Amino acid sequence: MLGRTHMAIGALGAVAAYPIIEHVRWDAVENILHSASAGMSHTIASEATIVLSAVVASVMPDLDQPNSMMAHRVERIGQVTVIAVLLAFVFLMHLSGSLTAWTFVIALGWLSSTPGNAARLAGLGVIGVVIIALGIHHDMTPNAAVVLTIWVIGAMFTHHRTFTHSLLGLVLFAMGVNLGLKELSHLHLVLVSDGLILGYALHLAADAVAGGVPLLWPVKHRQGIRLVRTGSMTDHLIGGIATLVFLGFAVL
Ligand SMILES: [Zn+2]
Repeated sequence: MLGRTHMAIGALGAVAAYPIIEHVRWDAVENILHSASAGMSHTIASEATIVLSAVVASVMPDLDQPNSMMAHRVERIGQVTVIAVLLAFVFLMHLSGSLTAWTFVIALGWLSSTPGNAARLAGLGVIGVVIIALGIHHDMTPNAAVVLTIWVIGAMFTHHRTFTHSLLGLVLFAMGVNLGLKELSHLHLVLVSDGLILGYALHLAADAVAGGVPLLWPVKHRQGIRLVRTGSMTDHLIGGIATLVFLGFAVL
């Protein structure tokens, strides 16, 4: 599936999961603006947080692709969206003064737009080094740093649609972000870990109908079917519909 189809599914999934996670109903921007209540900006920030996190994580499993996740011409829209989402995220989280946040933005922006396996390894390498540094300086729980570093190394050196698309990859990613972000809850980051795990899991679910995923990797057998081919009409259609439905929920 195209990166942007995954992102649209992630965004729509976040809208659907938000009431379950937050125990409040999803409110469209228009309703929130009309209600003019004191909690207005809090509601917008929570909803935006879960959507942006889910969108970012929805393309992360494909960082295992030798030719970068979205370094194809057809993915220009996806690349621009990733960079816009990362920038929105930094400002929403009040992280514009954080060097670490900017390093992640530049590394992920680079990964989404630079072709070639060497470029991909360099981008993931930078992310791995930052995570290790955060762990050493205790800015991140050492356990989280270890688990996330294992995930990054796995994404760097395993074949496409193997480790990152397995239950092992999902569990390591989920454990890492959950442990790593818990400490940072004072930065309104509580919903980020939920959004990231949701986006990641939805990627695997979507790939399960686009050729299958090896959930039990290192066992190679893939679970799933091939209903959708990457870049096909169906792929574009699913992405388009998910985007429109998401925008409908978000705005109206
Ligand atoms: Zn994938």
